[in-house]
Amino acid sequence: MKIYFLGVRGSVPVSGSSKQTYGGATSCIYLELSDRVGFIIDAGTGIMNLKDLVDTNVFLLLTHQHWDHIQGFPHFSGIYDKDKKIRIYSKGYRDTWPILSQMDGIAWPIHYQSLASEITTHDLSDFQEDFVSTHQCHGLVVKFVKLNHPGGAYGFKISYQGNTVAFIFDHEIDHTQLNEKKDEWLDLLDDCDIVVHDLQYQRKRDHACVGWGHPFIDDMCQFFSGYQGSELVVFGHHPIADDAELDFNQAQLQQSVHPDCHVSVAKDKTYYDVNRKIWGDV
Ligand SMILES: [Zn+2]
Repeated sequence: MKIYFLGVRGSVPVSGSSKQTYGGATSCIYLELSDRVGFIIDAGTGIMNLKDLVDTNVFLLLTHQHWDHIQGFPHFSGIYDKDKKIRIYSKGYRDTWPILSQMDGIAWPIHYQSLASEITTHDLSDFQEDFVSTHQCHGLVVKFVKLNHPGGAYGFKISYQGNTVAFIFDHEIDHTQLNEKKDEWLDLLDDCDIVVHDLQYQRKRDHACVGWGHPFIDDMCQFFSGYQGSELVVFGHHPIADDAELDFNQAQLQQSVHPDCHVSVAKDKTYYDVNRKIWGDV
């Protein structure tokens, strides 16, 4: 199992010399379960870094449809390919989904109904059965977790062939979780080989952003204090956070978790090999 980090930034894509280490493309991950069998999580601008990783049947799982998680979709070459069948999974949206309605011929020159690929939309709860039957990857288990985020968002805990990974974004750690709900959450994450978790805010700079749906670094340190998982990766970086801030976050969080847990900062165009526990460049 490999996790490809194709876009790791929150809110809006950014660039600049102070952000070169971790990159500036917005949310997109490709989870490869086995050789060339996998699916995309979110369609931020990082989806433009997805080249020959996907086959004819493209499965796209959306945590939610805030713009930074869908804004790369019009730039995804797969949607203009007549040989591609693209299945999008999401929850909580009626009528036309924002990922498609952003391509209405006005806000985007090509209308989604005239795209060459075959695009269908599905409820999240149908994902596991559809994916397993298409790829015959029996044993895949996908658990959906409701997150604390305005408008709603879902986290994914995914197990396959002895590995378990969790993707928790976008998600604000609130007062309730720091107290009575903390044990319940850590139980959920304890057996994961890797947890990819939202982190955006600094208390001093972003104090007005309470309730906006992302965690503060001090709450992350408190929540994950003593956490004994193997690999904890922070993701969805604040658009104005430079490399130095992200390194500082990493150091703070590393001091809070159990010494056996390794903390990383997600970086554009890298991958984590879950079986071998090593990082590499795409
Ligand atoms: Zn969001």
